[in-house]
Amino acid sequence: MTSNNRAEALVDLSAIEMNVKHLMTKSAKPALAVVKADAYGHGLIPVAERAISAGATWLGVALLEEALTLRDRGISAPILAWLTPITDDFEAAVQSNIDLGVPSVEHLHRVLAAGDVLRKVPRVHLEVDTGMSRGGALLEWRELLQTAANAQRTGRIKIVGIWSHFARADEPGHNFNRQQRDRFLESIEEARALGVQPEIIHLSNSAATINDSDSHFDVVRLGIAMYGLSPDVEKMGDSFKLQLRPALSLRARIHLVKDVPAGSQVGYGGTAITKVDTKLGVISMGYADGVPRNADHRAGVLIGNKKSPIIGRVSMDQFVVDLGKESQARAGDWAYLIGSEKSHSYTSDTCYTADSWAAACGTINYEIVTRLGPRVKRIYIG
Ligand SMILES: *Cc1c(COP(=O)(O)O)cnc(C)c1O
Repeated sequence: MTSNNRAEALVDLSAIEMNVKHLMTKSAKPALAVVKADAYGHGLIPVAERAISAGATWLGVALLEEALTLRDRGISAPILAWLTPITDDFEAAVQSNIDLGVPSVEHLHRVLAAGDVLRKVPRVHLEVDTGMSRGGALLEWRELLQTAANAQRTGRIKIVGIWSHFARADEPGHNFNRQQRDRFLESIEEARALGVQPEIIHLSNSAATINDSDSHFDVVRLGIAMYGLSPDVEKMGDSFKLQLRPALSLRARIHLVKDVPAGSQVGYGGTAITKVDTKLGVISMGYADGVPRNADHRAGVLIGNKKSPIIGRVSMDQFVVDLGKESQARAGDWAYLIGSEKSHSYTSDTCYTADSWAAACGTINYEIVTRLGPRVKRIYIG
């Protein structure tokens, strides 16, 4: 039976499972599966469930609403949420047993207040800034530790973890990684000196899990690599080199096929002109679906075995590809923007990948998969 869907993201959950197992074997540490941003566009609940069944112990999200959705769907694994503005409903978080990343004394006071109201002990992971200058306490670290230590002594809080985040883990061997790791260890020492003994300390993202076994500590936080994508294609190599299986393929229907003469302008602004008589294909997906408007001819679609590059600008709901004069493509066929019909485990030699799209518009594969819009149906296989 053929589906009426216009655009589909096919998510191979067995690839997620294999990647989790592979990375856990490599690191020999428990894993926290990062499922923020709708599991990097792959679908929060199915990915979270498969990551857990593949062996991940923890789940990690940015937002409290993401954590609460996981709980609402019956997921009982420990969940850490680390991007919770002080205006969030911390009572809901504590009530639902969500572990909270705490980057400041002000945040800590909000969490403590929620625990006091509920007469329930909040679980926190204190976040230290080890050099990225984004999340975490820097000059306030000592005060945060003291406040947390006092609260723990009086039974108002449980300090489950201490953690930090790498800025340059995708640059293997870069000096800054060593510096961040050293600062992390000093921060842990400071904590111990004040009587704070967290159950776990954690620092590694995917890149550090792959590159830097000295930084694995108690739990590794697996993001992009769990989805089968490389943290940095230039510096670390692609999925294939890293023995990862991309989980997501993306396809859209060909809306229209037609012949055009040489010298035809294509799309808004006439930014491309056909050099020869050719056949064009109109693909029914656009920037409203997450296809970047500035993607150039380095990206396109695979139809059958043939790659056809983008020609002209991507529009809101559609873009045009140059099929070539001899193309057999027909309206209604599937065009694969990422991956191929035959295999959901693919390389950039045989088809377009999230990496091709990233290169075609000057971004990273993370942005390509996370920006896929709600009009793209997620279909789960494997
Ligand atoms: C997103 C995120 C990760 C995962 O990063 P990847 O590079 O995708 O592995 C890990 N930790 C934190 C705090 C994050 O925000």
